[in-house]
Amino acid sequence: IKIAVPKETAQGERRVALDPTVAARFAKLGLEVMIQKGAGRDAQFPDETYADTRVVDDAKTLMAEADIVVKVAPPTQEEVNMMKDGATLIGFFHAHKNTDVVKALQKKKITSFAMELIPRISRAQSMDALSSQAAVAGYKAAIMGADLSCRFFPMLTTAAGTIRPSKVLVIGAGVAGLQAIATARRLGAIVEAYDVRSATKEQVESLGAKFLDLGVKAEGEGGYARELTDEEKAKQQEALARFISQCDVLITTAAIPGRPSPMLIPQKMVDGMKSGAVIIDLAAEGGGNCELTKPGKTVTKGGVTIHGPLNVPSQVPLHASEMYAKNLLNFLSPVLADGKLNLDWNDEIIAKSCLTHDGEIKHDATRSLVE
Ligand code: NAD
Repeated sequence: IKIAVPKETAQGERRVALDPTVAARFAKLGLEVMIQKGAGRDAQFPDETYADTRVVDDAKTLMAEADIVVKVAPPTQEEVNMMKDGATLIGFFHAHKNTDVVKALQKKKITSFAMELIPRISRAQSMDALSSQAAVAGYKAAIMGADLSCRFFPMLTTAAGTIRPSKVLVIGAGVAGLQAIATARRLGAIVEAYDVRSATKEQVESLGAKFLDLGVKAEGEGGYARELTDEEKAKQQEALARFISQCDVLITTAAIPGRPSPMLIPQKMVDGMKSGAVIIDLAAEGGGNCELTKPGKTVTKGGVTIHGPLNVPSQVPLHASEMYAKNLLNFLSPVLADGKLNLDWNDEIIAKSCLTHDGEIKHDATRSLVE
């Protein structure tokens, strides 16, 4: 089997699907590993660090030869068209936004597996790229907050006086939020956090942060949150306002699967914040949790900086790529046997993560969008 790693083409994407260590693991499993020249360069993996790997100059030749193509960012139609009919493609797809790509996959009978569709069950934890990349984003969000803030995070006792530690408030204590809490704590800030899922209270407290119980709970299906009713939203905003007005850095990560990011911070709440306060809106990709967020931009309003970063994992490309590559290896190695891919459609992980196979759209929500 030939497995190929093209150079990512999305603007600003610095990650690569396989790092040299995981590429070598695939070679050990008996696969022929090919990388496009310079594929790992932006993640600080030069071509020569990939042992037992063939470096191919251009994407066209690489993709045409490959049995399996592994990517990070969603493929373009052009990339799909370069592939051999009936080959396999694995990566993020965001199919609802890329229906033309889905049609191209169907036409070329590509078997495609979407990393974001891997079910979040215990057995699939080591393959869960949503989690690995969210952890990277959460870490980086705290660093961005510290960087944009005009204040120190830690308490400092110096000859020039004592500096009080910053107050960081994290809204949404999922995978990204918990990593943001841990990072802000390591930098010495006092951290408070809030989530609509009560299960997060213990996790927040275990990281040394204070959990804000605002009396609004919204447990949804599969360990996720559900959308709040208008009444609950109003109650939440009223309860949050006081904490938001007192914090120095606010990190928001609230998301509802398959829905735009919930709007939790209206402009009037920003107006009530301290001058010099910072909002890092990690939900910017889905529209943002703050009314003033401009995805991909940093704006200032009344002395408050609102930063809406996009594709944050790509800003820590080396470790984000290593983690992603491990997710891919853990997903693929159980199905690679006897020199071929053995797809067990009774396996929940295979069945649920498959987007297209043999000209068919296997994912129900995508099928109803495309057909
Ligand atoms: P996510 O990115 O969908 O959402 C981020 C957080 O925002 C969630 O914790 C959610 O509860 C919260 N949120 C949503 N609406 C909110 C609101 N109005 N106000 C405040 N907070 C709000 O979630 P995620 O981080 O991808 O995952 C959430 C949880 O799923 C995890 O913490 C975990 O419990 C579970 N999970 C399980 C597995 C597994 O078992 N394999 C893997 C990953 C995640």
